[in-house]
Amino acid sequence: MHPAYNDLKRRLAEVDDLTSAAALLQWDQQTHMPEGGAEARGRQLATLQRLAHQKFTDEAIGELLDDLTGESAAWPYDSDEASLLRVTSREYARATRIPADFVAEVSSHAATTFSAWAVARPANDFASLRPKLEKSLELSRRYADFFPESAEPIDAHIANSDFGMTAASVGELFAQLRTELVPLVRVIAECPPIDDAPLYQHYPEDAQLRFGEEVARQLGYDFQRGRQDKTHHPFATKFSVNDVRITTRLDEKWLSEGLFGTIHETGHALYEQGVDARLEATPLALGTSAGVHESQSRLWENLVGRSRAFWKHFYGPLQELFPTQLGEVPLEAFYRAINKVQPSLIRTEADEVTYNLHVLLRFDLERALLNGELAVADLPEAWNGRMEADLGLTPPDDRNGVLQDVHWFDGFIGGAFQGYTLGNVMSAQFFAAAQSAHPEIPGQIETGRFDSLREWMRANIYCHGRKFTADELLRRATGGPLSITPYMAYLRRKYGELYGL
Ligand code: ZN
Repeated sequence: MHPAYNDLKRRLAEVDDLTSAAALLQWDQQTHMPEGGAEARGRQLATLQRLAHQKFTDEAIGELLDDLTGESAAWPYDSDEASLLRVTSREYARATRIPADFVAEVSSHAATTFSAWAVARPANDFASLRPKLEKSLELSRRYADFFPESAEPIDAHIANSDFGMTAASVGELFAQLRTELVPLVRVIAECPPIDDAPLYQHYPEDAQLRFGEEVARQLGYDFQRGRQDKTHHPFATKFSVNDVRITTRLDEKWLSEGLFGTIHETGHALYEQGVDARLEATPLALGTSAGVHESQSRLWENLVGRSRAFWKHFYGPLQELFPTQLGEVPLEAFYRAINKVQPSLIRTEADEVTYNLHVLLRFDLERALLNGELAVADLPEAWNGRMEADLGLTPPDDRNGVLQDVHWFDGFIGGAFQGYTLGNVMSAQFFAAAQSAHPEIPGQIETGRFDSLREWMRANIYCHGRKFTADELLRRATGGPLSITPYMAYLRRKYGELYGL
């Protein structure tokens, strides 16, 4: 290989070492760090992140990328070399447009806004956050100004998490989805409610943790290259292809929280553990976008983990573990309970059918804020109006409304929500493609075998890391562009049967 290529890889590995070290400090911060460590940890993280940014935006990297551009004509598009050059050039061009003092301004504003939100949310105090939110909006628009080719300000933010998507493409897909979902939710809301009381009993934490780890292991999560810890907010993180960790949160009074949270994070981790080891320590050794990442967590959590087939295998062991809680609850009643649909106020607790309406609302509001069509002062009212229109509920206060998610209160406004719904939509499209290649998948799941499904995901998605954009992956893996058709078909089939529609 060209000497410039080796030099580029060496420099990128150093950047990766710094960002991985920062990720490890963040993991520690949320799992084991004593409270007293907070101040120094903030400083250490800022130092590592600044060094990583400096190293990545070094002019020497730009020169190496230029040198290699001439060479690369001979490299096949899907080769590791061409992909590394393509993705690194894209990231380098984006990163070098942002002045360092702007980055510093955003990060210090983000830190004070986050602390203020942590106090204001429990106090239900939107008014005190309003000036900070207005500043966040101004910074978010200034960020977009660095990308004047964008059709809308939010496009610059979407490109950071779901590269290749725009407000126009996402907005059109979401509008189609909303047209289908709102009436479906309304019809289900009129059906007799499903009894989910069996899930709300006392479930001792240790037993929940053991069961969750056993499920993760059987799904294919490799504990030789990972581990699970408890945190306040569950997440998955990676320091290397061979060290991908998950965390979970358990509620002794509600089984679903820990169980489906663990399966969700396992899905993220299967993706990262499945990235080809050849891509280690390069910008390609990551999931490709927020949407594709979420497609994997949601696929394993919902399409697999909330399916009847899955529980034909796992319900016996769960009953044995919790005989007093579930011994008398038939499989079918349990299956119905874990799939209960009920419009609710909080996104993270929403069921599969109503969940996306929470995301669509946030996406539309942040897009309107950035376009200057909605003022921060009018945000709570706009939020409540849309909740009423889509879910038939009005939040009693802002704590259960506009203040519930951290996403608008830790830096920019824009680009952080669409991935959740893109992921749900993609999950069904990928699952349908896997199943048509391997019709035996549902039968295998009933017997606790997940290898055909996981191997299809590994070969078509995981191994490529960030070599391809979400759109490229979808076309390669499923033969077509992103579409809501498989997702809506899945929801109608499953919930049509559950609710007798
Ligand atoms: Zn997730």
